[in-house]
Amino acid sequence: MLYSWLQPYYEQFLSSLQTGRVSSSIIIAGDEGLGGRRLALAMAKAYLCQDKQSTGPCNQCRSCLSFERLINKDLKVAYSSTVEEAKKDQDFTYDCSGLIVPPASGAVRSMRIDTMRKIPSFIYESAAGGVGKVVIIDGAEKMSVGAANAILKTFEEPLPGTMIIMLAKSLEQLLPTILSRASKIVLKDIDESEALEYLLNPANQKPPTIVRKDVDLQEQQKEEQQALEACEGLNTPIDDKRALIALALNSYAPLRAMNMLLSGDDIKALEIVQTLIASINNNNPYDVEVLAKLDTLLKEQQINLLRELVLEVLKYKAYVPVEKLPLVYYGNAQMLERLSADHLFEAYDMLSHIEDKTGQIGQRAPTSLMRCWLQAFRADLKATK
Ligand SMILES: [Zn+2]
Repeated sequence: MLYSWLQPYYEQFLSSLQTGRVSSSIIIAGDEGLGGRRLALAMAKAYLCQDKQSTGPCNQCRSCLSFERLINKDLKVAYSSTVEEAKKDQDFTYDCSGLIVPPASGAVRSMRIDTMRKIPSFIYESAAGGVGKVVIIDGAEKMSVGAANAILKTFEEPLPGTMIIMLAKSLEQLLPTILSRASKIVLKDIDESEALEYLLNPANQKPPTIVRKDVDLQEQQKEEQQALEACEGLNTPIDDKRALIALALNSYAPLRAMNMLLSGDDIKALEIVQTLIASINNNNPYDVEVLAKLDTLLKEQQINLLRELVLEVLKYKAYVPVEKLPLVYYGNAQMLERLSADHLFEAYDMLSHIEDKTGQIGQRAPTSLMRCWLQAFRADLKATK
């Protein structure tokens, strides 16, 4: 099933497929938490169907059925990869399961020149299903100039009956030469109400699973049950409060917000804000507790949390209603408005800097920042007393 918010893009694609006006080079741009990978997969399935219906793929032909196993001989996915993954040929593969359950972040992956060089020979092979060939490039923003050049000619002048879909976080991260010939689908942010509806529906509150038709059903149910039990975040019911905090901490991208809710990191994040406020109120000079709590999150999430908090405090200072600012509202952090805007802007710049240079800056950077920040806050608070 395609997420409701992706349906309009999908329907538009189906109608251009019907009239034979599908572009061969397509870029889908948007936060990965908006589900561009699923859209690309649905488009590939519709494109390769051997018995296309007016409503989309037939779901019965050999090509359609092969999508249930997430392997189709006319579709290959280019993934960004580590050196080891590329050595094992996991960088360009028939296996589409990475589009459903992307590999955990952490390892530094890049889109390799060698991976791009493998694409043309796949496209030139004749189509197994007789319809055409599709390549999905997942993480096009990770292409170096060399990698982009290696694919440029194929992307600009594809063979008839081929479709190349590039997935990227944003169009700005792609080279102009790549952008110029492609048709672009830019995934828009979705309404808060639609995102909430998705997050609060119990049917969606589970980790993404890969349904494999070749595995015993009972075995599969057992695996799903185990995956569900491993979600610490499900020990606390997901309500509006949790969902709103998770959305705010994930740029309102519902799939990333759901991941956070399943892990329970949204609860940790709120606790950090509450501990921060308590620490300032109690005039605790060492802030051991708040720093220790911050350390329970991954560095990337520490940065996200602090940045969202800074932004919300700035908005609160600018008279945005507090109900629109989940961290300030649920964390009772209104008192932070007494911090000077200069300090807040400085902190924001610093956080962006830590994020940009993430490979070069130590693991403890956000914690150190938090420590300096608390000192500055106290000085500000004293000055405004
Ligand atoms: Zn079909």
